[in-house]
Amino acid sequence: MTEKDRIREIMKCLKKAYPEPGPFVAWSTPLELVVGTVLSAQCTDERVNRVTETLFAKYRTADAYATADLATLEKEIYSTGFYRNKAKHLKGLGKILVEKYGGEVPNTLEGLLSLPGVSHKTAYIVLAKAFGKHLGVAVDTHVFRVAPRLGLSNATTADRMSEDLGKLFAPKDYLLINELFITHGRAICIPRKPKCGECPIANICPSAAKFLAENADTGRTP
Ligand code: SF4
Repeated sequence: MTEKDRIREIMKCLKKAYPEPGPFVAWSTPLELVVGTVLSAQCTDERVNRVTETLFAKYRTADAYATADLATLEKEIYSTGFYRNKAKHLKGLGKILVEKYGGEVPNTLEGLLSLPGVSHKTAYIVLAKAFGKHLGVAVDTHVFRVAPRLGLSNATTADRMSEDLGKLFAPKDYLLINELFITHGRAICIPRKPKCGECPIANICPSAAKFLAENADTGRTP
């Protein structure tokens, strides 16, 4: 099997295994997507969605974040962790959106990266989901673990890995591969002791044999 065929097979099998990948941050406007994605740093999407259910009802515009009382906002997002920084980011990005972008979320990489709390990962997700622009693969903690196990990248930074994956997959698949790897990383290719025995792509994964042997060793009685 050529590497191209293997990559195609990885996509095909993961699509079959996870016909509806997720759950992810819930949103209905680009602003909600940016806010939800900023809040999702170091936090589960489920928890973010519990918090944003009430947050989005209160803060409907960029100006609402720009003029928010910081202490109140901190309390409202407290359970997502790193709440002080995140509250500062939300207020800061609200201000920039009002001052530079007429209160709208910009649809360019440069514009998004100018917002506090917005990394390449967040920008790629917002561009793909809100504007249909597939400029890069968003690399979060799950993608950063799953891709090397699959032998798709040895990069030691998220940005480098995004570049590697960007060369292997077609732009139209950038968002899908992010969502499939996240879903697979949560369900099967978990951080410790990945469940290779249950994995639908174990036959084309170069790490399967190593993990299966390790897990067998751990289970062996002395
Ligand atoms: S075989 Fe194991 S290491 Fe490879 S993708 Fe599946 S769960 Fe992850």
